[in-house]
Amino acid sequence: MDKELNQQYKRLVVKFGTGLVTGGSDHLNPEIMSGLVAQVAKLHEQGREIIVVSSGAIAAGRHCLELPRRRKVGGIPYKQVLAAVGQNRLMNFYDSLFSQHDITVAQALLAKADLSDRAGYLNARNTLLALLELRVLPIVNENDVVAVDEIKEARFGDNDNLSAMVANLVDADLLLILSDIAGLYTADPHHHPEARLIPQVAKIDAGIEKLAAGTTSSLAIGGMVTKIEAARLATASGIAVVVADGREPEVILRLAGGEAVGTLFLPAASKLESRKRWMLSGLCTKGRLVVDSGAATALKKRQGSLLAAGIKQVSGRFEQGDIVNISDAEGTRLGCGMTNYSSADIEVIKGAHSGEIATLLGYDYGSEVVHRNNLVLL
Ligand code: GLU
Repeated sequence: MDKELNQQYKRLVVKFGTGLVTGGSDHLNPEIMSGLVAQVAKLHEQGREIIVVSSGAIAAGRHCLELPRRRKVGGIPYKQVLAAVGQNRLMNFYDSLFSQHDITVAQALLAKADLSDRAGYLNARNTLLALLELRVLPIVNENDVVAVDEIKEARFGDNDNLSAMVANLVDADLLLILSDIAGLYTADPHHHPEARLIPQVAKIDAGIEKLAAGTTSSLAIGGMVTKIEAARLATASGIAVVVADGREPEVILRLAGGEAVGTLFLPAASKLESRKRWMLSGLCTKGRLVVDSGAATALKKRQGSLLAAGIKQVSGRFEQGDIVNISDAEGTRLGCGMTNYSSADIEVIKGAHSGEIATLLGYDYGSEVVHRNNLVLL
């Protein structure tokens, strides 16, 4: 990371994984956490705006209750109970550590459902921005108590994706994902001693995703896969991302000071406007359009509008004005957009030429199913 780039890093989101805050043990590690907090405090003193996304609630709750792993209590998924016990313990830790640096912290527990409508998204955004303005340091976690574990779509599920969502929400300049793995490697370093760390990724393509899928981390929930998902969302919104080992001495300060540590994912786009970042977050998508290869190329290469002729398949139920995902026939997500037609309409007009829409439906909202102005590509 060069110095010039680093000058732009005014607003940072820093994510601490469970493996990091526990030091790989079964409880929160005060020494490690105090080292991380001291670094964040220094950045805060430099006038930067920082939001911490911290895991560790479930680990803290499990340790406190001394209960075995993977069990349900009264039918409620165990993790939700553990999070309820552990979250305030986690916050107490942070509160006392940050108060040693005269920094006031705030707890923000986010649930996916709260952010999926535009008003909820904007409320969460405004609260976090107001806290930053007051120089209060927000500490974010998923609201595991209300997030229903069984329904994957209803939760972020891992704090890597949550941290990207938060970075997207507040329009951060840099997202640091710190865990117990040094970054993205050319092969799984646990099994291939010759594996090399990749210092910089310009674009997250299928090759990068494949590398991530082959890398394991003993402690992280999603390992490298969720980190790449997070990096993809954040970089598409115009945010730089670093995945690094949080146990490296002074790693946060070194990164903020322009040193290259871990893997830097370069922003794919210039900063997107708020409405487009919200669309891209995937929080609000109601369905999916699968397009043929011609349409996929037109979208990617020419940033054209999506026409009915290029649509092969439609899934989900949505109305005109809803946000839908767009993917190619192989299932790769290309982006998302606001649709001019409902799912029922698209079922009828998919594959048809624009001139046929009026005959097929009896009305016509224009030849574009998704107009290029309402399209956000990954
Ligand atoms: N929200 C969970 C916790 O606080 C962690 C999820 C994750 O580590 O990705 O324990």
